[in-house]
Amino acid sequence: MINNTVDIVSYTRDELKALFQEIGEPAYRTDQLFSWIHQKRVSSFDEMTNLPEKTRAWLRENTVYERPAVVRKQVSSDGTEKYLLGFSDGNCVETVAMEYEHGVSLCISTQVGCRMGCAFCASTVNGLVRSLTASEMLMEVYESERQKGKRIDSVVLMGIGEPLDNMESVVRFYDLVTDERGYGMKNRSVTLSTCGIAPKIYELADMKKQLTLSLSLHSAFSDKRSKIMPVNLRYPLPEVLEACKYYVEKTGRRITFEYTVIHGTNDLDEDVNELAKIAGMMQSHVNVIPVNSAGRGDFEATRKDAEVFASKLIKKGVNATVRRTLGNDISAACGQLRRETQQL
Ligand code: SF4
Repeated sequence: MINNTVDIVSYTRDELKALFQEIGEPAYRTDQLFSWIHQKRVSSFDEMTNLPEKTRAWLRENTVYERPAVVRKQVSSDGTEKYLLGFSDGNCVETVAMEYEHGVSLCISTQVGCRMGCAFCASTVNGLVRSLTASEMLMEVYESERQKGKRIDSVVLMGIGEPLDNMESVVRFYDLVTDERGYGMKNRSVTLSTCGIAPKIYELADMKKQLTLSLSLHSAFSDKRSKIMPVNLRYPLPEVLEACKYYVEKTGRRITFEYTVIHGTNDLDEDVNELAKIAGMMQSHVNVIPVNSAGRGDFEATRKDAEVFASKLIKKGVNATVRRTLGNDISAACGQLRRETQQL
């Protein structure tokens, strides 16, 4: 059923083909339109010059094709850029572009706000407002590329929101951003970071996508983890780890464990020992990050704390690295800019 809310950017090539068939357009127009949106990434239907005016008029009338507004932009001395992107309903999300030797990596948001309640996170303070559509996530990539003036080489779904709480749109985003006739990002260059919604990890594993799954672990002890991540009360750590093992078995991909060091809380020797056991359960890599307090609570850790913790893990044979912290001078912690700007 066609109406004027057709979110054309979220349509796969097959869906576009079916839509064009319905309105009597030849099939080859599908590839033309898909290429204008996802390869040439033009700003409006008017620029789609090989489409007849009557097709463009139909698209203008019946579909939505919008770019987000750049509400704020911050540029760090290390080259990291952070954008606050505004959608037409007034909601904003954050997107951060970071430069590494291997190219530009973009951290995108998947929801406006978050309902997961992690104690160290600014994004969850006012709960979930709504989930993003696949087209809004794609526009985070396309607009960031335009702002940065460089191709985006990889994407991490680690900004505002829990991706597996918005799984359908996230998977659609993945399929579209990796479509070789679209943006053409490599399948393995997309990382999905979850706080651990076990049933959704099984579902994702069964889809056999090649994306990298990253679990926000933050404590290797289930009871400690529940104190900083309430989701652990619903899906306790042993259950989540079983789901992660299943993911590795089904996809052949290793799991990344994100471990935010909170000094004196989760960086004791007992934490090292338990985390080493978990890492040994499956093909994995541990990414150690010093906590960014983002104005919340008493959470603190220096880079040195993270390095000491990682070196203890390495001594135990764990594949561990300390993540480079970029954008320290531009409130790069997840949810911070949105809260400052929207006074949440
Ligand atoms: S860390 Fe992620 S899952 Fe947890 S509250 Fe923040 S955005 Fe949500």
